[in-house]
Amino acid sequence: MASNLSEARAELSLANRIVANEGIIDAFGHVSMRHPDIPGRYFLSRSRAPELVTPDDFIEYDLDSQPVRQPTVTQYSERVIHGEIYKARPEVMSVCHHHCPAFMPLLATGADYLPIFHLGAVGGIRPPYWDQHDEFGDTNMLVVKPEEGASLARALGRNWMVLMKRHGVTVAGTSVRDCVFRCVFSARNAAYQVQSMTIGDNIASLSEGEARLAGAISGQTTGLVRAWEYWSMRVAKAGGIARAAAAKSDKKPAKKSGKPAKSKAKRR
Ligand code: MN
Repeated sequence: MASNLSEARAELSLANRIVANEGIIDAFGHVSMRHPDIPGRYFLSRSRAPELVTPDDFIEYDLDSQPVRQPTVTQYSERVIHGEIYKARPEVMSVCHHHCPAFMPLLATGADYLPIFHLGAVGGIRPPYWDQHDEFGDTNMLVVKPEEGASLARALGRNWMVLMKRHGVTVAGTSVRDCVFRCVFSARNAAYQVQSMTIGDNIASLSEGEARLAGAISGQTTGLVRAWEYWSMRVAKAGGIARAAAAKSDKKPAKKSGKPAKSKAKRR
C-alpha cells in the first residue's frame, strides 16, 4: 500500500510538471488527487509553482480542505475548489484548476466552449459557466471560502469542466491522467476555437452524439498511456523530472533517453 501511495504521489508530481510544461499552468494553478486508499482525503502540493512540484511537496487534506497534519509550509489559497468537488463527486479522483491563456478570450466574453475537433470533446459541449460575483458580489476573485468552493462544485454538476468567468477553468477526472488529458486537449481546443472565431462565427462544433463518443477517449487506457508517455518525454527533454514514467515503461526507452539528454546538456 505504501508503494502504491508513493507511486501515486510521484504520478501527481509529474502531472503538475506536465500541465506546466504544456502551457496550461504557470506560477499559479494546481493539480490534486484523491487519496487512493482513503476517499475522504486528498493530496495537493504546498504553495509553489506546479513546474517545481516534487512528491515531497504534497499536503494531505480532508474534504473540508483542512490539513490532516498542520503543515509548516504555506498552502494554496484556492484548495476548497478541490475539496468541495471531491465532496460532491465521489467518482472524481483528480482535479485541476488553471488560468490557461487559451481560455481567456472565452472567459472574458462568456462565449460557449465548443469542441471543434475530436479530442476537444473531453471538455464537453457548452460546459457550464460560473461567475463568483453572481452569488458572492465583489471579492478578490479567489475561491477560498468553503461556500465558494461548494458553489463552484454545484455549477460543475455532472460535467468534467466548469468555466469560471473572468478567472479560469476547473477540470475533473476519474484519474490523474484522465484529468491531465482533459486539461491539455480542452486547452488546445479553446485555442483552435478562438482562432476560428477570428475568421468567422460559423464554428463547426461536434454534434452531441459525436462529442459523447469522441469524449470517451480519455477513459481509454491506450490513449492515456500514449499521451502520458509523450508528455513525460517532453518534461524530460525540458530538463524536468519524468522518473515516474521512465520507471513504469520498459527499459529500452529509458536507455535511449540517456543519449539525447547528454547531447542536450552539451548544447547548453
Ligand atoms: Mn484561480
